[in-house]
Amino acid sequence: MSLPMKDRFDLPEGVIYLDGNSLGPLPKGVTERVVEAMTAEWGANLIKGWNVNGWMAQPMRVGDQVGRIIGAAPGSVVMGDTLSLKVYQTLSAALQMRPDRKVVISDNGNFPTDLYMAEGLIRHLDAGHELRVVAPEEVAGAINEDVAAVMITQVDYRTGRVHDMDKITAKAHGAGAVMIWDLAHSAGAIPVDMAASNAEFAVGCTYKYLNGGPGAPAFIYVRPDVADTIDPALAGWLGHDAPFAFERSYRPAGGVERMRVGTPPVLQLTALEEAMTVWDDVDMNDLRTASVRLSEVFIAEVEARCPNLHLASPRDPALRGSQVSFHFEHGYAAMQALIARDVIGDFRAPDIMRFGFTPLYLDEGDVIRAAEILEDIITNRLWDRPEYLARQRVT
Ligand SMILES: *Cc1c(COP(=O)(O)O)cnc(C)c1O
Repeated sequence: MSLPMKDRFDLPEGVIYLDGNSLGPLPKGVTERVVEAMTAEWGANLIKGWNVNGWMAQPMRVGDQVGRIIGAAPGSVVMGDTLSLKVYQTLSAALQMRPDRKVVISDNGNFPTDLYMAEGLIRHLDAGHELRVVAPEEVAGAINEDVAAVMITQVDYRTGRVHDMDKITAKAHGAGAVMIWDLAHSAGAIPVDMAASNAEFAVGCTYKYLNGGPGAPAFIYVRPDVADTIDPALAGWLGHDAPFAFERSYRPAGGVERMRVGTPPVLQLTALEEAMTVWDDVDMNDLRTASVRLSEVFIAEVEARCPNLHLASPRDPALRGSQVSFHFEHGYAAMQALIARDVIGDFRAPDIMRFGFTPLYLDEGDVIRAAEILEDIITNRLWDRPEYLARQRVT
């Protein structure tokens, strides 16, 4: 299947969407599939749907679809909850796997919720753990034999900088630490091979590049040989080996299913399951090639047209994910002005204008057109209007 495949998406006419890294657009067929699930499944089958329509097996079934995108073996990924919760589950498991060690390493480019969840867990364990947050380039050097877990987001949400997964994982394992990767900005953006990396854990969300829709559930990967050793901190009934035996005591299910917690969000999972069929025909290496080409064109166009925007992303495409960011003093207002012209990206404090490139529905013409409109806005100070300067709740 050649890229882009614009006919697989329901994008509003005239919109150039450079924000699939924050919320992917609606793939065609999802609406019909969700309506069918509501009427023919929930409406008609009522509670029988759990068996007849396979709702209870859906978190593992969709997990396998995601697993194909991240190089995980069938049966090693399960869906559920939010990414914040999945971070908590992996870190609590990792700390229990290394009871004699007290240090967690992360970096200051990580997304705040990952760091907040780690700090909350450490506070509540009250067992002397320490979250050591270093600069991204200092992660490898900070890993030593005191470290229980290394918890890193592979692609930086602001700049798109990519960590070397194999190198950091090898360093963690060399020091005896457990490795956790957050793939929020990787899954569906760049080729990932979890099995080859040998990392114990990976987590990520599905509403960004995987187009599962707002509130789509997160995924969690556990390396198959360690899954059965985990004693889950969130010991919910659907991670029990026999939930419908309603036993008084918790016994974890085999494998990654023990990372399930409670009732799955069936309608959201149905939307995601249908959205994931887009990927059946996509080769991740082709996608990566197209993504690099689009982002190289965008950087060249913006730098030629807008000299007061400064590249915040690594210049070497091998060191970037599928997004490009620029510093601009009036970035918030400029992004609002851009959105008003139907070029949708987003803003990240303090001054970053962020643009995601998704070769599934973007071509070079879109990227050049976006740069032309940006040039008009910057050159003619079209951003300098009260309605663009006032901050909204979600940026
Ligand atoms: C988007 C993102 C999240 C969001 O977490 P939710 O629990 O899904 O709201 C967390 N971590 C990273 C690195 C992200 O990019």
